Amino acid sequence: MNLILLGEPGSGKGTQAEMLVKKLGLYYLQGGELAREWAEKDERIKKIVESGELIPEKEMTEFVRKYLEEKVPEGENILFEGFPRFIPQFEDYEKWLNSKGSKIDAVISLDMSEDAAIKRLSSRRVCENCGEVYNLITNPPPAPDRCKCGGRLVQRKDDNPDSIKVRFQYYRNNTKKLIDYLESQGRLIKVDADRPIQIIFDEILEKLGVDND
Ligand SMILES: [Zn+2]
Repeated sequence: MNLILLGEPGSGKGTQAEMLVKKLGLYYLQGGELAREWAEKDERIKKIVESGELIPEKEMTEFVRKYLEEKVPEGENILFEGFPRFIPQFEDYEKWLNSKGSKIDAVISLDMSEDAAIKRLSSRRVCENCGEVYNLITNPPPAPDRCKCGGRLVQRKDDNPDSIKVRFQYYRNNTKKLIDYLESQGRLIKVDADRPIQIIFDEILEKLGVDND
């Protein structure tokens, strides 16, 4: 089953993605992670990512296509999160899957108010050492500013208030259009994301028609 998980910044996409990947045995690809990986090797991309802006659409599509060809074992079922963000990106990805004899089985959208999402984002902390992600509200660390591995917890550079604002603007101008487009085509599974993690997860599985035992 190939899935795409959409939702605004702070809607809990990463958490739900990890649970789905584990439950369904999917290959997990995270658009933001791929962009950050790329940024480490490219100053220009690094500046874009740290400002909270998005990598130009066509460049990102091309980067992802190469990544899929070179790094993802053929025939893997993929869960994509944070990509595609634009209608043409979605269409390109779907074409790529179709060319491999595969398809997008479902697109899930995590719905949340912008206020709630901003509150969640500003509470996010990442371990400098192992990369573990915490949230001071929904998933607090064992001790303030300390990871379970002992590493120091920091805010991601693009989680500062200015970057958050930019990311929401991008979301409204781009991903929101993709979501509306998929909804108009009857291809969107919408889930209210302002609820406890397990309840959201159970509803996603139910809507996918997956047995949850
Ligand atoms: Zn750690």
